[in-house]
Amino acid sequence: MSPQKIKIGVISALREEQAGLIEVMQDPVTLKRGMRNYVSGRLWGIESVCVLSRIGKVAVAATTATLIESFGVTHIIFTGVAGATVKAVRIGDIVVANQLVQHDMNASPLFPRFEVPLTGLSHFYSDKALSTLLSQAASQFIHQEFLETISEASRQEFFIDRPVVHEGLIASGDQFISTALELNQINDNLPDVLAVEMEGAAAAQVCFEFGIPFAIVRTISDNANEDSPVDFVKFLEKIAACYAYGIVRQFYSLLKEEKLLSA
Ligand code: SAH
Repeated sequence: MSPQKIKIGVISALREEQAGLIEVMQDPVTLKRGMRNYVSGRLWGIESVCVLSRIGKVAVAATTATLIESFGVTHIIFTGVAGATVKAVRIGDIVVANQLVQHDMNASPLFPRFEVPLTGLSHFYSDKALSTLLSQAASQFIHQEFLETISEASRQEFFIDRPVVHEGLIASGDQFISTALELNQINDNLPDVLAVEMEGAAAAQVCFEFGIPFAIVRTISDNANEDSPVDFVKFLEKIAACYAYGIVRQFYSLLKEEKLLSA
């Protein structure tokens, strides 16, 4: 596929997770569909459509399908925040999904627990090439931009020292996980999960069904239990917004060098 033919859909659930992207878009045109604003244009020279999906699986499923069907995107990336489900993943770390699962899917006894009925699948794989680029982009952001973009005061406030980029399983469900009880249930049933959020696995399912490659990156905002940061909104503004913009920008610069997409 030639670089001219690719069109990237960039989804975020929350306003802060999309911060700065619309502003740098070249020739932006906004179209409203189903209560979402789809902004089409070029990001760093590459055709792209940016959209806020809103929160939850249905919201992101509708947005993803519209991006594919009405806007003709060829690839999708999702940037956002998530709660950590294991101690090794800390606030300020980044998780790139290699697979996603819906932790609240349960049509048993008709289908095995977590399996999405009639797909035969419980786990959906993200695109390897895109996810590798997104991981590299996240690492480059951490090594080249983190210290200068995130103030020392913000780093101290959220106890972010040396962020790490992880790759692994992300679980999604229509629930903000904020108690040890809820978290333990997820850990018991799905021990490999690194992070929990509310959209990724739904976007993954829609991309799978339409045959669209996708990748998902999440900045860890909380520990998915009672000691989640006191100020989620502040985290979004001071930390997550800088991460999202920095990672996406690094991703686009890697994408331009990428032989896979231009082959
Ligand atoms: N307080 C926010 C609501 C955030 S909902 C507001 O008023 O705007 C949580 C969002 O962050 C979702 O998009 C979800 O994907 C992600 N998220 C972060 N931490 C999460 C957690 N512990 N459990 C579930 N989703 C989480």
